[in-house]
Amino acid sequence: MTLDRFELRTPHVVFGPGSRADVPVEVDRLGGRRVLLVADAYQPGVIDDLVAVLGSRLAGRAGQIAQHVPVGLATATVEEADRIGADLVVSFGGGSATGLAKLVARERGLPIVAVPTTYAGSEMTPIWGQSEGQRKTTGRDPQVLPRTAIYDPELTLGMPAGLTAVSGMNAIAHAVESLYAPDVSPLVAVLAEEAIRSLASALPSCVDAPNDLAARSDALRGAWLAGLALGNTTMGLHHRLCHVLGGFGLPHGEVHAAVLPYAVAYNAAAAPAAMRRVAAALGVSGTPGAVDGRTAPAALWQLGRRLGTPVSLVAAGFDPALTDEVTALLLANPPANPRPVEADGVRDVLKAAVSGEVPAISS
Ligand code: NAD
Repeated sequence: MTLDRFELRTPHVVFGPGSRADVPVEVDRLGGRRVLLVADAYQPGVIDDLVAVLGSRLAGRAGQIAQHVPVGLATATVEEADRIGADLVVSFGGGSATGLAKLVARERGLPIVAVPTTYAGSEMTPIWGQSEGQRKTTGRDPQVLPRTAIYDPELTLGMPAGLTAVSGMNAIAHAVESLYAPDVSPLVAVLAEEAIRSLASALPSCVDAPNDLAARSDALRGAWLAGLALGNTTMGLHHRLCHVLGGFGLPHGEVHAAVLPYAVAYNAAAAPAAMRRVAAALGVSGTPGAVDGRTAPAALWQLGRRLGTPVSLVAAGFDPALTDEVTALLLANPPANPRPVEADGVRDVLKAAVSGEVPAISS
């Protein structure tokens, strides 16, 4: 008899409208006395409020944020943490702000209280990432997993439709790939399916009515669960491909949204059980031809059209002339994936994502 062992690694979570008021409570609970605030300035008023509630706990601020965390920015922020004698980092913003805080945590072992404002899910993972030149490096380190995540749906009210759509598809991508991960547990599978269901039903309302608090709450709850699924499994072709493309400076959410249906189509025949769960969560299990869940990639594509995500990877900034270079980089470090990753297959996924057509299942 074999024994399966499962552990769910998760930060402490505070969830609900107005929960940002709990930031000082969490800082105190973790013993923070000299806080470095890594804050994305997209909503200056909210940051002023945060500064006020932190009061004398606030020792310094880092306000420069960039996607994929350029190495120079990380170094400067670690130096700032040292200069002010920080003992805790509060991050406020999307995955880029969380990612910068994580690099400080990685270098100096400081705890993080994360206040996410997008659906990226980084606050739930021990994954750090940084970029230099045209290469992005990522790794896992338990030290960078935030100690607390504070989810306040009010912070996502008014998020532009474009960001809502691509960030939401980014979250769905975490949940989808966790479902066919080699280390998926029954617990994570339930979380992932619920994450997709929650996001897919809430995102259209969020895009149509950006101030709908009920829909924003459902979408953020889905993003939380999707992040948890990402943090507790090993990602496959889709995430690795988006990672390589991110190294070329392409925008994270847009790239995820443009690649997802095609990477999933590549894997569909090799991961029928996962496809059934994705199809069920997207509400297409009962449609003709959906018996084996193969409609999942088309349903993801359809959701992207409904939300208005970029139709083609080119619209997300990809230059098709880079296809061979991207393929070679991916194959230099191939991901764990239900279907073996081969050069022709990767090129086909990129070509299909450039075309933007309804994904075809391959085997
Ligand atoms: P982002 O953090 O770069 O934010 C995108 C833009 O949206 C920025 O201009 C920001 O100012 C703005 N913004 C943020 N919240 C907003 C809101 N509520 N309303 C309006 N504007 C808002 O984008 P992202 O997609 O959240 O994060 C992408 C980064 O996160 C990438 O670098 C990616 O690699 C990383 N990431 C890491 C993990 C992980 O587990 N380590 C997971 C997901 C993403």
